[in-house]
Amino acid sequence: MICVAIGRSRHKHMMAEHKHLAEQGAKMVELRLDYVTGKVSIRRLLADRPEGTQVIITCRRKEDGGKWSGTEEARVLLLREAIAEGVDYVDLEEDVASQIPRFGKTKRIISYHNFRKTPDNLRELHTEMCQHDPDVVKLATMANSPHDNLRMLEMMQESEVPTVGMCMGDIGTPSRILAGKFGAPWTYATFHHERSLAPGQLSFKHMVETYRYERIGPDTKVFGVVADPVGHSLSPHIHNEEFGALGIDAVYCPFRVPADDLDQFMQDAPRLGVRGLSVTIPHKEQIARHLTKVDPAVKSIAAVNTVVIDGAERIGYNTDYNAAMDCLEHAMGEVGAKPSPVEGKRVLVLGAGGVARPVVFGLRKRGALVTIASRTLKRSEKLADAFEAKAVEWEARHRVHCDILINCTPIGMHPNVDESPVSKTFLKPSMLVFDTVYNPETTLLIKEARSRPCNVVTGVEMFIRQAQLQFFLFTKQEASRSRMHKVVRRTIGPVRDWSNDDEPA
Ligand code: NAP
Repeated sequence: MICVAIGRSRHKHMMAEHKHLAEQGAKMVELRLDYVTGKVSIRRLLADRPEGTQVIITCRRKEDGGKWSGTEEARVLLLREAIAEGVDYVDLEEDVASQIPRFGKTKRIISYHNFRKTPDNLRELHTEMCQHDPDVVKLATMANSPHDNLRMLEMMQESEVPTVGMCMGDIGTPSRILAGKFGAPWTYATFHHERSLAPGQLSFKHMVETYRYERIGPDTKVFGVVADPVGHSLSPHIHNEEFGALGIDAVYCPFRVPADDLDQFMQDAPRLGVRGLSVTIPHKEQIARHLTKVDPAVKSIAAVNTVVIDGAERIGYNTDYNAAMDCLEHAMGEVGAKPSPVEGKRVLVLGAGGVARPVVFGLRKRGALVTIASRTLKRSEKLADAFEAKAVEWEARHRVHCDILINCTPIGMHPNVDESPVSKTFLKPSMLVFDTVYNPETTLLIKEARSRPCNVVTGVEMFIRQAQLQFFLFTKQEASRSRMHKVVRRTIGPVRDWSNDDEPA
């Protein structure tokens, strides 16, 4: 179950949100009295309460992350009044729990908050809280490392008293999504994504529509993207939508894992139920030491963007490589044609980083003649040496004759949408222009290339192809490219119409 926290300064707004949430199907709300300014009337808040939603009354002090500015006596009085009114649950911090005895049908949540850390003695704290006659124990602590999530979730799973444990902050987000898998009676969400009442809290809509929280149970398989930062990732949107559409009991989480925490996270992954991971910055190279096997292409590229965890096996793949080559071959003829339509073509690759590497490897494997230009000549030279390509100074890029131009730099990416890595006059109608940047889909480079007109491949096409390949590695099922395309369109804006493409069934 999802409990939606409502915190508004006026009674009428609290009541309107409560009503709206009930209409949206929310089964439980938490009314945060500490957000109300002026005199709080519990009677008024509960007078026309919609049927079918359980209510938690909470009045949080400032030291516990709340906004209550009145006296402690007045706060305790309000909590007693809530019990007298017969609300379903009242939230009592451990230190006030003994002052407020059980009465009537109201259940007691004994809560603990720590906005600095997830204490080492989590289990002892939990045992202490169980001494205060709880129906439910609630712990909300700040996650400073991804390992905090596992400690919280396992503690919750092993507890005999129903426990809602969650880690705060964006590192803690997976603990909120996976709460149901680990036996929590509910998890908390916020009414609107711009009004979270605790760090890292997701909106009710996001929990329901993206994560399909109500369907997550003990057997749900876990997948996710491991990155730092991770908030911008489109992957949770597209993978979760596919799981839902294909009826797969799985959830895809955003795992924010700082570089120093990767080793511990990979140890924890099986205990979290993780079966597969998308891997991105800054882990694409470091993840290699945790793998038992790699796809042959990964050995040459030396970067992994997909890990499949199958029992003791951890197998690494690079779907960026296949996706980029499939996009090019699709635009020029046939995917997988022998010889490849790329063979013998002169290609200028801009950038020498994480995406350029699989692109250059794939191009050279298909017999293309590759020149690399990037900001740091040394980095271009290193990449060129690895795959028998040529490197030139960034300033010399406009003097390179090419049939195909591929942008593997972030130039043109949101918010710098009015930048292009080459001048418009460099673009010739005979060229194929491939921009790997996918936000926005129509970068300035793509717009100018279309106006010449050049054949173009967008970063969205590559992104969706790599996600589709990844989905197959995770589930052995074909994802729908058009569905993924719709999700990307919904999330970042309009994309090319692929209705005539070779869409899998
Ligand atoms: P990266 O590892 O940081 O590499 C970026 C490369 O671009 C580096 O060589 C960098 O040069 C160069 N560069 C950056 N700014 C530049 C500038 N102003 N002028 C000249 N060169 C510049 O990043 P990445 O992982 O390769 O990602 C690059 C882009 O690919 C991202 O912006 C992303 O939009 C896109 N991407 C697309 C997909 C997809 O599926 N479509 C997947 C992943 C990434 P230095 O060496 O000097 O830093």
